[in-house]
Amino acid sequence: LPEYAFIGRSNVGKSSLINMLTSRKSLAKTSGRPGKTQLINHFLINKNWHLVDLPGYGYARVSKSAKKVFQKFITQYFALREQLVTAFVLVDIRHKPQPVDLEFMQWLGENGIPFSIIFTKADKLKPKAIENYVEDYKNVLLETWEDMPNYFITSSSKDIGKDDVLNYIESLNENMLPE
Ligand code: GDP
Repeated sequence: LPEYAFIGRSNVGKSSLINMLTSRKSLAKTSGRPGKTQLINHFLINKNWHLVDLPGYGYARVSKSAKKVFQKFITQYFALREQLVTAFVLVDIRHKPQPVDLEFMQWLGENGIPFSIIFTKADKLKPKAIENYVEDYKNVLLETWEDMPNYFITSSSKDIGKDDVLNYIESLNENMLPE
């Protein structure tokens, strides 16, 4: 089955987003503490695709050796990635473009891994501020990328962006019907 991976810095709101997308509050545990999601979890959605919950990167508050372990999991996942269609890189909409996120996107690009960006916690900003934020983010990305990657604006607490993400995934799935 096609897979879609979700990844981002710790505390970006990944567990909350996964809960929103799957509409099951208990599926992925949320926590305010960084470093909670440590292993790779697969969730079967609509019986036709897998949501892959990857460990966070760029932890501020874990040891160097723990960081290495996470990196190894992530690298190994992407090295195999037989079923991976696209990765969703989560970015907290309150933070300026972070080197660790930009470097990770760069790494995906260099390895030929398609990705989209999901801006999280949109409820924390007013619409005009969101617009400005995305514009600034675009300008930073366009320094290294030819086009702005596909992106989504979401809020798990206000249930924003859920259908956009799910419809996008379904549209990619439809394009992959067996010959
Ligand atoms: P993870 O570490 O990336 O899995 O992040 P979590 O889903 O555990 O969320 C980290 C913190 O951000 C928690 O305190 C959440 O309540 C909060 N959070 C997550 N998503 C949202 C959102 O859409 N809006 C707001 N306001 N807070 C959020």
